[in-house]
Amino acid sequence: GSFIHSYGTKVFLRPRLDMVQDAVAQSRFNEKKWVWVEDIHLGYVAAHILKEERDLVQVELENGSTAFTSPDKIYPMNPPKFDKVDDMADLTFLNEPSVIYNLAMRYKSNMIYTYSGLFLVAINPYRHLPIYEEDCLQAYKGRRRGEMAPHIYAVADQAYHDMVRDKENQSILITGESGAGKTENTKIVIRYLTTVASEHTKNDATNHNADRLGQQILRANPILEAFGNAQTIRNNNSSRFGKFIRIEFNQRAQICGANIEWYLLEKSRVHQQSPKERSYHVFYQLLSGDKETKEKLLLGSSKPSDYGFTKGSNHVIESVDDAEEYRKLLDSLNIMGLSSKEQMDLFLIVAAVLHLGNISVTKDYRGDRADIRDFAAVERVCHLLGIPAQDFKNSLLSPRIKAGRDWVNQSKSPSQVMSSLDALAKALYERNFAALVERINKAIDAQKSIDKIGFIGVLDIAGFEIFEVNSFEQLCINYTNEKLQQFFNHSMFELEQEEYQKEKIEWSYIDFGLDLQPTIDLIEKTNAKECVAPRGTDSRFLEKLDKVWDSGDPEQKYKSTRFKDGFVVKHYAGDVEYCTTGWIDKNKDPLNEDITRLLARSTNRYVASLFEDYLEDNDESSIGNLYANRGSGRVRSTLTLLKLRKGGGSFRTVGQRHKQQLLSLMNTLYMTHPHFVRCIVPNHRKRSGEIQTKLVLDQLRCNGVLEGIRICRTGYPNRLSFADFRKRYEILCPNLLKPNCFIDGQSACQSLLDDMALDHEKYRIGATKVFFKATVLAELEENRDKKL
Ligand code: ADP
Ligand code: MG
Repeated sequence: GSFIHSYGTKVFLRPRLDMVQDAVAQSRFNEKKWVWVEDIHLGYVAAHILKEERDLVQVELENGSTAFTSPDKIYPMNPPKFDKVDDMADLTFLNEPSVIYNLAMRYKSNMIYTYSGLFLVAINPYRHLPIYEEDCLQAYKGRRRGEMAPHIYAVADQAYHDMVRDKENQSILITGESGAGKTENTKIVIRYLTTVASEHTKNDATNHNADRLGQQILRANPILEAFGNAQTIRNNNSSRFGKFIRIEFNQRAQICGANIEWYLLEKSRVHQQSPKERSYHVFYQLLSGDKETKEKLLLGSSKPSDYGFTKGSNHVIESVDDAEEYRKLLDSLNIMGLSSKEQMDLFLIVAAVLHLGNISVTKDYRGDRADIRDFAAVERVCHLLGIPAQDFKNSLLSPRIKAGRDWVNQSKSPSQVMSSLDALAKALYERNFAALVERINKAIDAQKSIDKIGFIGVLDIAGFEIFEVNSFEQLCINYTNEKLQQFFNHSMFELEQEEYQKEKIEWSYIDFGLDLQPTIDLIEKTNAKECVAPRGTDSRFLEKLDKVWDSGDPEQKYKSTRFKDGFVVKHYAGDVEYCTTGWIDKNKDPLNEDITRLLARSTNRYVASLFEDYLEDNDESSIGNLYANRGSGRVRSTLTLLKLRKGGGSFRTVGQRHKQQLLSLMNTLYMTHPHFVRCIVPNHRKRSGEIQTKLVLDQLRCNGVLEGIRICRTGYPNRLSFADFRKRYEILCPNLLKPNCFIDGQSACQSLLDDMALDHEKYRIGATKVFFKATVLAELEENRDKKL
């Protein structure tokens, strides 16, 4: 049976249970009626019942005090034999306190991985555990889920085997809040896959390419981390973007290529960070890099404190050597196959961003208009970007804008110029990032491979966010998570349905994916509205929202409410208030088009290619460049997707681009067999061994683990094979089944259940298994304990 556990010897993976002590604990447990009681501060506390009345229960808490509580605030406790179970779906009492208790007990024994039905829950250990070494990796190869302790290796292995066996695409969806361990687990999955798949290559002289490819795929990560990760309060190496890495396999189960998609890079970090955080690693790495490169990029011997965009915040990370990291970055770029020119181009943009932050804007002599007195700063930027400095300055201070049919120059205020500099820095940085990912994809592309059988995609993306103040960015990420949760609910429904059909049992199971649809529809309408009103203001946007939402179905139970400067959306994880101040700008992310047109005509081909979407068709001088860019052609596709194509272009806003990308991600995911990993941060102090119950509960609520349990309970969550059921519960009906007389499994179970006089609603007999509603097995277990 799945809930009777055999324990191995691997210290960190499974404890060796002391059977005698177990029996003692069990008999102590049996003396009283144990429950969990809700507590506003601690979440839940253990207690036993002293007196039980219809709407009042008297309990004695662990600390010896007594209390009165209502029956709906107490939850039955699982007997000690369930302590530290590998899969929470095996708990007879599947309630919130039991889940959190089990996770905490396991975590304290360094068992950071636990299953919860379809989920693998992973709690950040904040220290190195000896569970990732080569021997451990080998131990998980080709093993079935129940055989080994829960592990991210087990998930990776399952995906690999399913992919090879069924020739079906797989996905591993890893979510969690910042610092929970998503990226670490993603790296472990990729290392597992490259290791296991390369073993097929060893005796295969023709395929040293696969090995090289494996190396390149592994090196993609440090490169992406340099440009897309930063030190934050929560995480010293926090990814500021989401990613989906697809690893393609061929008929021989070898890796034949890979592809990376990225989502929602946090651009604002380029020009501002909170004092205890840093900007992207690459800035600090480059500034501690070699003298020659720095000279070329006009960085001299400067430091982060010399630049406007980096001086106000943290500069060093404890136990991280930026110079060393810079060397590793170059190493990875070389292995990826980037030429020194290509590498220089990447760093050139990084340096240009730093110099942009040093352009100081002042008031002109009339007092309201902007002026730039330090022309040298402008010249440095323009030298690097390959554009004329005077034109740049003019475009910055008084850009050409269209007034009716004519073009006029409009003078800008200092604050307007400052924000267009910030916007430019963000755009340069993001477009550089996009081009970098595109370049990596080119290096690891599987196009040439003709015998692809399928892929394993690993999604590493931020989970649901509820902050003090939530804005556009949170809506984007929460919308993503709403979609992912819908996908999970749907998969769970499909799998259950499949199982029930296979077992031919009666069922009436609803598609829980549909629960989330009203919220998703609402957000999509919201997004659409913003695009209809490109010149809208934040307040007009809100007025429009009122109209869209009011015109919706009045019965809609997810209907949102509004407050003054924002609105509330009912997400599955809870109600979230979104503040709309600055919303339209965040979404449209307006750029000074005079400047982007200059950049599109840069003498540096790389810079020009980054802004080729701003090339004007009637711009005579651009034609030569256009062809030049076609020739280089390498950044085209991502950048076309990137944004703000003029006129009939496809993505005018950040929201639209994200929606489109998410749509494509969801389409991909629905074609895969999914595996779900939920990372949990145990405390906000980066401390190992410390687990805060409330914090973990909040995450379990947001990441769908509790939702999964809720859904599970509406069906028949516990199931046992006929043989297991008979073996374990025959004792409840002694003398019913004659020992030496043949009776088939199904009939045996039926007569046992009849004899127990169990309500038919509580169970279903399938073709090979008996299915039970939640808590039914607990009753049987209790009766069984009494007989023993
Ligand atoms: P996320 O991507 O969810 O924001 P990370 O994967 O970057 O979080 O993890 C944050 C930090 O926590 C890591 O830099 C590492 O120090 C630690 N950490 C996370 N997972 C593990 C693990 N399995 N073993 C050891 N340390 C870990
Ligand atoms: Mg991360």
